[in-house]
Amino acid sequence: MVATPIGNLGDLSPRARETLAACALIAAEDTRHSAVLLRHFGITTPLVSLHEHNERERTPALIARIAAGGDLALISDAGTPAISDPGQALVQAAAAAGIEIVAVPGPCAAIAALSIAGLPTGAFAFEGFLPARGGARRRRLGELATEQRTLLFYEAPHRLREMIEDCAATLGRARRAAIARELTKLHEQILRGDLGELAARAAQEPSLARGELVVVIEGAAAAEPTDAAAAELDRVLRVLLAELPLAQAARLAARLAGARDNEAYRRALALRAAATASDDPAT
Ligand code: SAM
Repeated sequence: MVATPIGNLGDLSPRARETLAACALIAAEDTRHSAVLLRHFGITTPLVSLHEHNERERTPALIARIAAGGDLALISDAGTPAISDPGQALVQAAAAAGIEIVAVPGPCAAIAALSIAGLPTGAFAFEGFLPARGGARRRRLGELATEQRTLLFYEAPHRLREMIEDCAATLGRARRAAIARELTKLHEQILRGDLGELAARAAQEPSLARGELVVVIEGAAAAEPTDAAAAELDRVLRVLLAELPLAQAARLAARLAGARDNEAYRRALALRAAATASDDPAT
């Protein structure tokens, strides 16, 4: 499993280069894209394609080939294979067949973004891409609202604006976050602020919706209620939200469930967003 650059070709490690030059075959997500990288480094190893649409079908033949003694390197278009990229099925099949799998580690956009975000790094949850449709996205964010670990998301640039707005509405506008754009490239940029500020910038600055980006969001506050208390708060809120306006339901639920007002309000927003999402015909 060979990691390749996410922008700056200087990030291909000497070991990655040696491995790609020495192996018998390279499986690549897009062979034309990877041919440019390999040509740049004078690597002439033959390529075979392995992408999300043919990975399952092609894996048995590749496993048979490795089992017969041929070694294989796997690369994706950028970064670490199998991280929001093809590779997982091949690795699972290779592990099941008792084949030795070696990591040649290197760039990964999520880890690069986390390392410079200025947010807690001790525990984090990588979520990959959120659902593209608004309803399903808000539902997933509602599920993540009490996650205390730092959250990492990949996002397509044209969806940044609505994604950040949904994060602000569901997780709370005061949560600290960072948007890491074009890492290791000429126009690398990192924006830090709370979700409210970042949502406003994403709405005002169309240039943010260009290039590649990672969104990093701090986890829910450590003083969040226990699971049982959170479940009780949600239960009370669901009953009240069916009858009352959101702010009133949140205030009453806080008193009935012994929760803080701002916590009840935040959960009410998340539950309302999730309920709206499940009614959303787009999902
Ligand atoms: N396997 C890759 C890795 O290890 O980072 C990720 C592949 S995923 C299909 C592509 C997404 O990664 C992009 O949509 C973007 O969210 C993120 N990404 C890749 N390169 C990036 C970069 N140079 N700067 C910021 N984000 C990047």
